[in-house]
Amino acid sequence: MPPPSRAAASSSVPSSAASGAASSAPIESSSPVLGREADLEALARQCSACQRCPLAQGRQQVVVSRGNPRARLMLIGEAPGAREDALGQPFVGRSGQLLDQLLAAAGLDSNRDAYFCNGVKCRPPANRKPTALELAACRPWLQLQIALVQPQVVVLVGATALQAVLALKGPISQLRGQWLDFEGRAFLPIFHPAYLLRNGSNQLGSARELTRQDLVAVRERLLQLAGQLPAN
Ligand code: SF4
Repeated sequence: MPPPSRAAASSSVPSSAASGAASSAPIESSSPVLGREADLEALARQCSACQRCPLAQGRQQVVVSRGNPRARLMLIGEAPGAREDALGQPFVGRSGQLLDQLLAAAGLDSNRDAYFCNGVKCRPPANRKPTALELAACRPWLQLQIALVQPQVVVLVGATALQAVLALKGPISQLRGQWLDFEGRAFLPIFHPAYLLRNGSNQLGSARELTRQDLVAVRERLLQLAGQLPAN
């Protein structure tokens, strides 16, 4: 992934340098920076008029983000689905609801502790996977979001997000749960909740149980970074 700082510098959206945060049982905000919300609002306004790729033709609206822009945790998915396209927020369909539940079970509040976005901001026709060209066209928006939110921990939700952000391809079943450090941030790939909906078992070793463990590891990493839990 090209450095977020370069993306921010090349955009007309003003950039903020920052680190901020929150979490369930208190993972405290470290250094709020005035202007971050304004910058993200400017990004959303510009993004809403974007015509950089063919996905602009079929969208109802551009789906930019939901959650807390001061969270130290960012979750990046693939693309908006029908409900996200209708409501203008990412991860609000069945998959998003399941993800919220799994985060809550790990002690993370979706509204307070996390910022959600996608690799592409417009819904692909029939919910198909975004093409490499569409991911590349939308990447500058994602890079700006990362540069403005400055998350310490980034959860890559599914294989497409892993490809969109870190240009890594491979079976998510092998890559999930493996921490990747890049440019001062900790990245963790996890299964996409749409996959978990199709594989509902909660048994030991199931995809859902592994995802629960991954999100517990995310919370522990956040606590460690906040100095509220000793590092392993
Ligand atoms: S998907 Fe991204 S690049 Fe394509 S039109 Fe939407 S906002 Fe622009």
